[in-house]
Amino acid sequence: DKLGVALVGLGYYSTDLLAPALQQTKNCYLAGIVTGTPAKAEAWKKKYNIPDKNIYNYQTFDQVANNPDIDVIYVVLPPSMHKEYVIRAANAGKHVWCEKPMAISAGECGAMIDACKKNKRSLAIGYRLQHEPNTQEYRKLVKQNKLGKVLKASCGAGYVENRTDHWKQNKALGGGVLYDMGVYAIQGSRLGTGLEPVGVMTAKTSTNRPQIYKNGLDETTTATLAFPGGIMVDIKTSFGENINYLNINCDKGEIKVAPYQAYAGVIADSPLGQINHPYTVPWQQAKQMDDDATSIIQEKPMLVPGEEGLRDIRIVEAIYKSAATGRPVEI
Ligand code: NAD
Repeated sequence: DKLGVALVGLGYYSTDLLAPALQQTKNCYLAGIVTGTPAKAEAWKKKYNIPDKNIYNYQTFDQVANNPDIDVIYVVLPPSMHKEYVIRAANAGKHVWCEKPMAISAGECGAMIDACKKNKRSLAIGYRLQHEPNTQEYRKLVKQNKLGKVLKASCGAGYVENRTDHWKQNKALGGGVLYDMGVYAIQGSRLGTGLEPVGVMTAKTSTNRPQIYKNGLDETTTATLAFPGGIMVDIKTSFGENINYLNINCDKGEIKVAPYQAYAGVIADSPLGQINHPYTVPWQQAKQMDDDATSIIQEKPMLVPGEEGLRDIRIVEAIYKSAATGRPVEI
């Protein structure tokens, strides 16, 4: 039987990617929605044939505990709201999927993990690239030392954000590019080396648009992360520039992934040839949700559990600390 998924927050990602992907999934389907906007509830109800009893707002949300149609709550809200809704979902007895960045502090991530453990519910973070076949294949090259050891790497994730008054520019809601796109660059450093960073050597936050990125909020962040064995990884993330690469320098040549993060078309070139398994949008999101639904059905661990989201938020905190103090920070 397919698992019933309810999306919480019907913004861009739910509307354009997740709901269409849930029309392709085999192990789960769009069973319900949670929205504060009655007009959206009406439109989604018609478009996706969602029964009234599976439509909630933020006040009625906790009643989902009594709804056997809903097995999984997928939290697709601004980052500052992830903690509250993940915990409410777990306390309602539901499995939880949560978008990246997991939350805005490591403490919040810990509370989310604890709430899911206490309720014996699964928690997965929406790092879709970890489910992506091209990504999985270049990671295997690294893991199996096919090009020798990793010497250094660099990763960039950014796009030109033209909105000026979105949660991405609001610190209280989880804004700042390091949370939003920076976690992709952090993931690139970890997936590309197959290792966990031990420290931040140096970091810098900046903006060219201080009237939009106010009070020191980062529009662009750069950092050098230190990994075991002296491996250094330079990362860059920006709302002012289209950048999308992961370069992994190994003993016997370089793996170049570009675009490194995309809904389709992730390609990795190396002296061993090209990794390029094509598919169309939104297959990647469907694969992610089907993988996670299968793990729940089979009572297996999530491919990308809460602990994985927490790792990145710890690194985010260390990068901000290094940028603020001008000093290296241990992780
Ligand atoms: P969005 O702004 O388009 O949507 C956010 C939704 O939250 C809106 O429907 C909004 O009405 C609702 N909301 C409820 N309370 C709110 C409040 N107080 N302030 C602002 N909005 C409020 O954002 P999005 O791009 O859909 O992003 C949502 C989440 O999904 C974020 O965590 C983001 O990082 C993540 N995301 C992930 C990917 C991915 O590839 N994995 C892509 C895009 C977004």
